[in-house]
Amino acid sequence: MNTETTNKDFVFDIQKIKSDYPILQREIRGHKLVYLDSGASTQKPIEVINAHEEFFKTINSNIHRGLHTLAEESTNAYEKTRTHIAKFIGGVKTSEVIFTAGTTESINLVAYTWGEANISEGDEIVLTDMEHHANLVPWVMLAQRKNAVIKRIPITDDGRLDLTDIDKIITEKTKLVAVTHMSNVLGTLNPVKQLAEIAHKNGALILADGAQAVPHMPVDLLDLDVDFYAFSSHKMLGPTGVGVLFGKENILDKMPPFNMGGEMISEVSFDRITWAELPHKFEAGTPNIAGVVTFDAALTYLDEIGMDNVHTYETKLTAYTIDKLLQIDGLKIQGPNNAINRGGAVSFTDKDLHPHDISTYLDSKGIAIRAGHHCAQTLMKRMGTIATARASLYIYNDESDIDALFDALIAMRKYFGHE
Ligand code: PMP
Repeated sequence: MNTETTNKDFVFDIQKIKSDYPILQREIRGHKLVYLDSGASTQKPIEVINAHEEFFKTINSNIHRGLHTLAEESTNAYEKTRTHIAKFIGGVKTSEVIFTAGTTESINLVAYTWGEANISEGDEIVLTDMEHHANLVPWVMLAQRKNAVIKRIPITDDGRLDLTDIDKIITEKTKLVAVTHMSNVLGTLNPVKQLAEIAHKNGALILADGAQAVPHMPVDLLDLDVDFYAFSSHKMLGPTGVGVLFGKENILDKMPPFNMGGEMISEVSFDRITWAELPHKFEAGTPNIAGVVTFDAALTYLDEIGMDNVHTYETKLTAYTIDKLLQIDGLKIQGPNNAINRGGAVSFTDKDLHPHDISTYLDSKGIAIRAGHHCAQTLMKRMGTIATARASLYIYNDESDIDALFDALIAMRKYFGHE
């Protein structure tokens, strides 16, 4: 495990952490904001807000082209984030870290480049029954274009992957396994390392969707041995519009580029065009420079806490949340009923109330949760529901936030006559 992810000296002072987030001072409908929707997007600490402002005040300019001082400084800042990320995810090469607009774009990049070049009629792509649409729609569409076959790893009733028949699902016909590292709905943490071993044994590649994992736990891609990995800055304290695609160098090298234009070429004539070296081959045009530079401040903030501390803290708070929700009559947790191998996305349904009504009621008490299908309609179908309510936690939440949720849910049931 790389040393960046551990910080034995950090003392977890939740009041200090909460005070880093100006938005948490806001009142919503006369109540202090209780933000439990970090699975959708996290709030930003003052360090990140300041870094964004500082970029525009001091070094703003385009990167990789100008020879003036500002161009050099912004290029260095942009590349510093890349180096930081490479370290943050286990010590991969900087050439293997590609900046995108987010997890969605990272996965589309793989589907449209590697997928177009490598998937043929009859090939099999293995998904799971708990994928976010971002790791489902690109593969279903690719399979339709190529007459390829989609297979699925089923889930158990308590929301874990069911690997009983895995040897029949991942076979020598499999070209790609695309799996979420942590479910945005169920919170389930999936055995990506084990699936990578099985995929590789069968000659297939594996892509993991890390949108809900990298923000919440130490992730070591060398240890997981995945071929592709995707995540988003905005779910880990950074700005929106920035994502990462990790790909193994030998695979990225052979892939055609995605977007065509400036910065991704080596030489251009009307007869012949050659591509830039990695990672620039996949970064056409002017990227979200301010976003990438600001992302570095988010990574530094997380380093200071230590990802092991983030994970330990959130696991305890998840256990507390589950315990509280289980005490409410009529409520069902959709996903594992314990905090083992699980993150802090806790979905639930109420036997009497629609999730949208739950969310609207909670908002009237200043509590932000998410309600809907969470971009996982196939999972909703498997769970026999059309929507869930979801509280999702991060490092700025504590037991008082969960107590507020608990009290409001009890009051809600009373209000709607379901005591
Ligand atoms: N995968 C998972 C598991 C997610 O939770 C999300 C965001 N809800 C995405 C992919 C898509 O991320 P983005 O919108 O940042 O591209």
